[in-house]
Amino acid sequence: MVFFLHVPFPSYELFRLIPKQWQKDILTGVMGADLIGFHTIDYASHFLSSVEEVLKVEHDGQFLAWDNRKIKADAFPISIDYNLFHDAYDDPMVSEAREKYVELKGGKKMIFSVDRLDYTKGVANRLKGFQQFISNYPEYLEKVIFVLVIVPSRDSVVKYAERKKIIDESVGNLNSGLGNVVWQPIIYKYGHLDFNELIALYTACDLALITPLRDGMNLVAKEFVASRKDLSGVLVLSEMAGAAHELTEALLINPNDVIEIASAIKAGLEMSQRDQGERLQEMQDRISHYDVYVWATDFFNELKAVKDVQLSLRSNFWITSQRSSC
Ligand code: UDP
Repeated sequence: MVFFLHVPFPSYELFRLIPKQWQKDILTGVMGADLIGFHTIDYASHFLSSVEEVLKVEHDGQFLAWDNRKIKADAFPISIDYNLFHDAYDDPMVSEAREKYVELKGGKKMIFSVDRLDYTKGVANRLKGFQQFISNYPEYLEKVIFVLVIVPSRDSVVKYAERKKIIDESVGNLNSGLGNVVWQPIIYKYGHLDFNELIALYTACDLALITPLRDGMNLVAKEFVASRKDLSGVLVLSEMAGAAHELTEALLINPNDVIEIASAIKAGLEMSQRDQGERLQEMQDRISHYDVYVWATDFFNELKAVKDVQLSLRSNFWITSQRSSC
């Protein structure tokens, strides 16, 4: 049996804050699996440290012995269908939608972000970062638009509905405070995008601004990179996203630091075409080699390898016990 965690596993210093019985129940529950997967090596080692501290089980960095079984915990960074996103660039429907957005831009630069409505996505800080950018670099007044798409998620939950209200108000305040009759700095959509519209926005924008406060992986970042077949565009990415471990040529920012967000936006919008192309090429090479199909094959091959280890240990135990009973 396998278990895969799509969100970060916290460090032991955070994990220990919950009641001890919950700590034990969570860890022993997860260890019912033979292979335990995480998005990054950090999350895997956080899990192993917690197991060591809470259950006093030793490990060698990957394998641990539990309940007469060898279990493996490791990193398997989930990925995307790279070719689907890369090839979509040339789809006539995508091209048509992209032209519409390029027209909307006029001569302005376009920043784009898309996230589910969730407190982890850092939208409020992102808006503050954008405001700081305009305030620090007023030469960009009327020269930039920010297309902000929030995909509805759990909005019947009170806390999520409150979050939506905060975003709605911030967008309203920024548009009325910064904008004027001829310039609306933030174009805000609360709703789903279909695939063609999503790719059109990924490929029409000049800069993707992805600033989660914490995120297991963040597939949007990988999708943006994959879709830029034109080798143009800049990714500004939170270092708190699992994807930052692989997308190291992005402009990495601390999502709590609005000044850093503002200066990364400026650096991104002013990056040379050559630099944009080289960074995207490096990232595309990396994620195209470890796409979602390789991820799935790798994960299930690893499960087979763990089962083989378990089987050989069981056989050794049986042979040893037979010898000692003779
Ligand atoms: N997405 C979607 N509908 C939209 C916009 C985006 O389904 O209207 C997809 C997007 O393509 C991506 C996923 O939602 O594959 C978001 O994944 P991510 O890992 O970035 O964040 P999560 O929502 O899992 O926290």
